[in-house]
Amino acid sequence: MTKRRDFLQTLGLMGVSLPALHKILDRKSNYFPDTIAGPLVMCSRGESWGKKVLEPAWAKFKETNSILDAIEAGSNVVELDPADTSVGYGGLPDERGVVALDASIMYGPTYNCGSVASLENIKKACSVARLVMERTDHSMLVGPGALAFAKAHGFPEENLLTDEARLTWLEWKENLSDNDDWLPPADHDYKKFRKGGTINVLGMGAQGEVAGITTTSGLFGKIYGRIGDSPIIGAGLFVDNEVGAAGATGRGEELIRTCGSFLLVEKMRSGKSPQVACEEVIERIFHVNGGKQNVDFNVKMVAFNKDGDAGSASIMPLGDNASASLISDKGMKLIAGKSMI
Ligand code: ASP
Repeated sequence: MTKRRDFLQTLGLMGVSLPALHKILDRKSNYFPDTIAGPLVMCSRGESWGKKVLEPAWAKFKETNSILDAIEAGSNVVELDPADTSVGYGGLPDERGVVALDASIMYGPTYNCGSVASLENIKKACSVARLVMERTDHSMLVGPGALAFAKAHGFPEENLLTDEARLTWLEWKENLSDNDDWLPPADHDYKKFRKGGTINVLGMGAQGEVAGITTTSGLFGKIYGRIGDSPIIGAGLFVDNEVGAAGATGRGEELIRTCGSFLLVEKMRSGKSPQVACEEVIERIFHVNGGKQNVDFNVKMVAFNKDGDAGSASIMPLGDNASASLISDKGMKLIAGKSMI
């Protein structure tokens, strides 16, 4: 303790601020494995989005050798693409018709993390989360505070609601109740389901450093102020340099109350393969709901371990040809995954 105080005083004299000192001194073990399974990037989408995300992520990794740069570049692709209605620009809005983003990032070697929640008007939510991790002594910023922080770092304020997302919201709003003054047009057959989405981009660098990002516009039509699992470390994302990485998509409330991603990593720590660990988290969600017959929502878990083995499981049937995809020096590989209903 005396040593720590002396050290603090010396650094204080050198002009290093106290928050910065916390960042330096509170770093946990820098665990790196003896054998490295080789660099890889994994994403929670199958063939088509997998290719769009993983190829630029891999190119970024080759350019900078930074796994954080790689997973950020891959996640930004989806955040900037209005064709995806569940992440970033073009994401489906909350009940007010406003797009509010949630995102998190975690870095295994330092066990450090950052997240933003209910962030409006900024496209690259995961990049803001990365700045929370790297440029603050906090882990999470929310709402107007997250927006102010993003603007302070030069992110432009933009409208994230595309026309397509606005029309989907309008349909939803008009069909919510027949006991209000919103009237749907008589000739249109509206979709009744509540859409979700989200993407997890997980990676391992050349020194075995593990990292992950989860980014989303959250549950369509959510109550203003609702925060899902995606920015909650342990729920929508968890990585551990001794074990591997895990991410989740789907019904956030279920992942929060089961600590889904943390649970998955702990199962891998106890020796379960990523595939078995993903399936067991889904089984746990069935269990806390009193059995799979009571489940009418989707959750998907994806993970890889330090040996480079990957797995995926979801409640509902999988689309997009596969559940997840992975890129490494051997090229792109699809992870078939298992649907549990
Ligand atoms: N997990 C996200 C949330 O609950 C939504 C999703 O992945 O579908 O906000």
